[in-house]
Amino acid sequence: MKNNNFKNKQRISNVSFNKDHKKNFNKVNNGVFVFTRSLSVGELAKQLNILPSDIIKYFFLQKKMVTINQMLDDDSIGEVCLNFGYDVKKEKVVSAENFEEVEIKDKKEDLVERPPVITIMGHVDHGKTTLIDAIRNSHVAAGEVGGISQAIGAYQKDVKGKKITFIDTPGHEAFTAMRSRGASVTDIVVLVVAADDGVMPQTIEAIDHARAARAPIIVAINKIDKDGANPEKVKNELMNHEIIPEEYGGENIFCEISAKTGKGLDNLLESIITLSEVLELKANPNRYAMGTVLEAKLDKGEGPKATLLVQNGTLNNSDYVVVGTSYGHIRRMVNEFNKVLKSATPATPVSVTGLSEVPNAGDHFMAFPTEKEARDIAFKRSLAKKEHDLQGSAARSLDDLYKQAQEGEITSLNLLIRADSTGSCEALKSSVNKINIPGVKVNVIRATAGAITDSDIALASASNAIIYGFNVRPSANVKAKAEEEKVEIRLHRIIYAMIEEIEGALKGMLKPELKEVSIGQMEVRNLFKANKLTIAGCYVTEGHIKARSKVHLVRDGVVIYDGELGSLKRFKDDASDVKNGFECGATILGYNDIHEGDMIEAYEMKEETVK
Ligand code: GDP
Repeated sequence: MKNNNFKNKQRISNVSFNKDHKKNFNKVNNGVFVFTRSLSVGELAKQLNILPSDIIKYFFLQKKMVTINQMLDDDSIGEVCLNFGYDVKKEKVVSAENFEEVEIKDKKEDLVERPPVITIMGHVDHGKTTLIDAIRNSHVAAGEVGGISQAIGAYQKDVKGKKITFIDTPGHEAFTAMRSRGASVTDIVVLVVAADDGVMPQTIEAIDHARAARAPIIVAINKIDKDGANPEKVKNELMNHEIIPEEYGGENIFCEISAKTGKGLDNLLESIITLSEVLELKANPNRYAMGTVLEAKLDKGEGPKATLLVQNGTLNNSDYVVVGTSYGHIRRMVNEFNKVLKSATPATPVSVTGLSEVPNAGDHFMAFPTEKEARDIAFKRSLAKKEHDLQGSAARSLDDLYKQAQEGEITSLNLLIRADSTGSCEALKSSVNKINIPGVKVNVIRATAGAITDSDIALASASNAIIYGFNVRPSANVKAKAEEEKVEIRLHRIIYAMIEEIEGALKGMLKPELKEVSIGQMEVRNLFKANKLTIAGCYVTEGHIKARSKVHLVRDGVVIYDGELGSLKRFKDDASDVKNGFECGATILGYNDIHEGDMIEAYEMKEETVK
């Protein structure tokens, strides 16, 4: 770390609390009622100096029934105020608890240069992955031999004594949301365009994202080693999209490269450094860190594990960090070489453990000096989120939805998504957000990676949401809880099938569909090896297991493998059917990575219509 004087200085805390804003305040000022959050009928009445029954009566006359404790949304508060002669204004409270909205103004003298953060974008097959790998493996310093030992979704590269931070972004179309988030942490977009293919749909999409994030674009014309390469054609096509090379008086740097042979790579890296110097990218390393979660997952041994990009300040390995609505104490912080770091300065990506929950990619984080501060802020954030989630809720099951759609009554649908990885989460969220049916609003109130939990059921129940599970399976307990709370869980394994189902329900047209229907479950209790085959000693815990069934291998609630039973035996004999409460030995065709404690679910495909 260059800026060593940091250790001697005291770090400044991120946000100073505005005392007025410490409590959510609501007041009447010159005939204007100013409020900051949703209020119950009783609270609003008190603030407006009227009786709760006045408000209840007002709504009654509008044919709406409300109770004294009922929370009112912004529109209803506005309506009441106007009816009782007040103008109304909602004020956003910016304080430490909504830190993503805090604008940090550092003093000029506290700012030091920081590395640029780069996202590589472009059309599929134009060479993004090859370029990411080529950069990663170029200029490998002594001691780093072997390259990057741990994929953390981002890495730093030394170029002529300066660092560049690269973010690996997925290239698939459905990951648009993630990519646009990628761009929001991004200073410069490197747009890869294959010289033999030219501008394609995702090239244009990438340009749009870069523009939306106000990130300058460096064009890397790739595959110039190929016979059909035509860089001039690419330049002309890009000019139609107002990406103009400097040589023609434009602002965009163009580099001709071959990610495959490495030609032009140094020039590209130097261009990035040159542009970042022009951009004067700076941050203050002497404050507690804030930044963004790039990736997160649940590690079996280490618990929640997240890649954080420090965007301002310095993250210390003993800091308390609030992410989303949870907080934690950093236990271990490593870089992309799996090397333990004591601190991480601006633009450094690090992988950390010690968080209490798996955050979402794109969540903001902030570090705090004491556990108490972090805990208070996390608690306030979770209250604010609950309140937000509860607003505008709408009672639905897919069945309800379909019926109401037929009667033309649907206005909104709340969804809670659980998927096997943060990547699928982003893809699903992005696809759901693209559903466009006039008059209907689809709200994703939570989308997280991992198994469906009791807390999901509670949230879905409170906000009348349907839970969509993608490549995950609810445990028996969770299923029971969902039934008790009347929460609907829909399980899917293909994005478009899930989107089609939602669209179909919203349009009031549900077709019969092939659905996976669980017929039995067995627990893997022990394992044997024979001729390189893994035989699982199982105990049937639900339903029955038939020979040659289609099966899911489920680990910690997540579907790890989807296939077919190989053999099914009771003692030494082949069995055609093993019932609940019996033991058996089973193999999965072509799959051996079975662990003790896994669950094997047998299923059948059945035609099913949601009525
Ligand atoms: P992505 O989908 O954009 O990540 O593209 P990939 O990096 O997977 O590349 C797609 C294909 O193009 C692969 O077969 C690469 O080997 C090939 N490729 C990538 N860069 C070059 C290049 O500079 N020259 C040549 N000849 N092939 C390349």
